[in-house]
Amino acid sequence: MTTKILIVEDEPDILELLCYNLRQAGFEITTAEDGEVALRLAEQHPPDLVVLDLMLPGMDGLELCRLLKQREALRRVPVLMLTAKTEEVDRIVGLELGADDYVTKPFSPRELVLRIKAILRRAAHRQGEEAEAGRLEIGPLVIDPTAHQVQVGERQVELTATEFRLLHTLAQRRGRVQTRDELLEVVWGYQYSGYGRTVDTHIRRLREKLGEACDWVETVRGVGYRFRKEMG
Ligand code: CA
Repeated sequence: MTTKILIVEDEPDILELLCYNLRQAGFEITTAEDGEVALRLAEQHPPDLVVLDLMLPGMDGLELCRLLKQREALRRVPVLMLTAKTEEVDRIVGLELGADDYVTKPFSPRELVLRIKAILRRAAHRQGEEAEAGRLEIGPLVIDPTAHQVQVGERQVELTATEFRLLHTLAQRRGRVQTRDELLEVVWGYQYSGYGRTVDTHIRRLREKLGEACDWVETVRGVGYRFRKEMG
């Protein structure tokens, strides 16, 4: 899969230089000349990394960086800041602004590509650690949200995307009863009730597929469902 980079830069010469070199390095490039457009593009198609010029017309690079980091879907996207002023560097790498690295202008394109690759490696490593931390092992069940896989003992369980979300949601909240309406909202994204039987149907199928581990998902009569904390 190609790595997507969003470049935010208002100076045409530099933008062209960046596009040329990053495309040569094998990255897929989108560009924006101001912060508003950049934010919209990033929200529509989250990039793998943002190269962001500090001085932009309207919203500046620091403000855009802050807005990106406030958005749940974008806050993990690394930001490499470009700046003409060395005295800005302290502010840029300040933790609260969240830029991952910076390069001062004029820059060597080769150096820039190396920096980008290093940032991407760090980000991939961090994601790997987070995925590892997201793995749930409860009783005979192993639920792996990154690989979208469930195992009961040695057996691989084939679940649909909805069944997976349902199991994962219950397991994450194990020990706590979830009403049908809560499950509808989290798993299906419905914000209204009246589809309780949809939940029941999926729970039934999920239990069948879990086989000998089916009792981990228990019915709480008149309320909803609960993933057991322990078997006993
Ligand atoms: Ca600029």
